[in-house]
Amino acid sequence: MTSLDRLDIPSLDQRESALLAPYALHSRDSAGRLYPEQGHPYRGPFQRDRDRILHSAAFRRLSGKTQVFTGNRGDYCRTRLTHTMEVASIARTIGRALRLNEDLIEALALLHDLGHPPFGHAGEDALQECLADDGGFSHNRFALTLVCELEHPNPRFPGLNLSREVLESQQGRSQKTQNPQGPQNPQNPSGAWLEAQVVDVADSITYDAHDVDDAVALELLPLEDLQQLPLMAQCQQHVTDHYGPLHGKRLRRALVHQMIDAQVGDVVRTSLTALQPRGFQNAQAARRAGVTVAVSPGLQQQKQELEAFLYQRVYRHPQVVAERLQAQRQLRVLFQHLVDRPASLPALFQTRADQVGRRQAVADYVAGMTDRYCLQQYRRLVGEAFGV
Ligand code: MG
Repeated sequence: MTSLDRLDIPSLDQRESALLAPYALHSRDSAGRLYPEQGHPYRGPFQRDRDRILHSAAFRRLSGKTQVFTGNRGDYCRTRLTHTMEVASIARTIGRALRLNEDLIEALALLHDLGHPPFGHAGEDALQECLADDGGFSHNRFALTLVCELEHPNPRFPGLNLSREVLESQQGRSQKTQNPQGPQNPQNPSGAWLEAQVVDVADSITYDAHDVDDAVALELLPLEDLQQLPLMAQCQQHVTDHYGPLHGKRLRRALVHQMIDAQVGDVVRTSLTALQPRGFQNAQAARRAGVTVAVSPGLQQQKQELEAFLYQRVYRHPQVVAERLQAQRQLRVLFQHLVDRPASLPALFQTRADQVGRRQAVADYVAGMTDRYCLQQYRRLVGEAFGV
């Protein structure tokens, strides 16, 4: 076999220097990992982080977790996994246009929703209630628990031993949601690396677009009602100008594509206009200067109007609320059942109960479940005990 160092593979630093902007976070500037490791011959540190997250058990479980609409509504709507892949795709598109570090962006995108419990935000609210006297529950914080403690693919260290920049960025998300009123730089509220900001903005573009798509496809909302919103009206105009009159499914899909394209184009224009004249020589300089990756203020206003509309008409829709209440009740009952009967916990979580307390260990166990497994456990454990 030919030794790798005799092959003509450009070094990571050569490749990044050729492709990335000076203000991107270059791999050579990474602060490394908590447990030091040898560099890989042809994969960079953030690429390895991406791979570790992708190959984790927690990542695979995203396929069985609700995004907004439960699997009872058929196979069309997004799961937490397909949402995550859409975020990664849109974030990489923005990152490439801004010449940022795509490996870091992809790692952060694949990680960003890893900590969501079963049943989407309904599940999160139920766990928050269960842990109200124990520090509460946050999916952003739980993602860190998963990748730092609960995943254990390597015998030499706990967790995935991700790069400090990846952990720090996820921690930033966690602090932002815990204390949204806390001290912030108004220009860069998260104080985040540009790559982390790209993932945040891609997350917002993604869920606005797919929630519209899913809600209309599931007939929770007529498309005509959305067209009164300025953002949708502009997309409609663009679609009509390019394709002529469209109707039904074709119109819905064309509108959703246009929503994404318009927002991505706006972020790239707005962010490059902010970045290019400043001549930042490294990522730290751009971060300290508080540069933001964001949509323009006008589009931000339109997105807020759309989100307020979706909140009222879709997330508060009676059918969605009814599913939400049922899921929350089942999750709360399962939680209490396991707190009262810790012998029902898997061995790993019985040991964990000694370290972090029983209620926290039960929450960690339940939060890791898919919707399907959570329901199965509810029926098996609670059903057996009470004949539910
Ligand atoms: Mg998300």
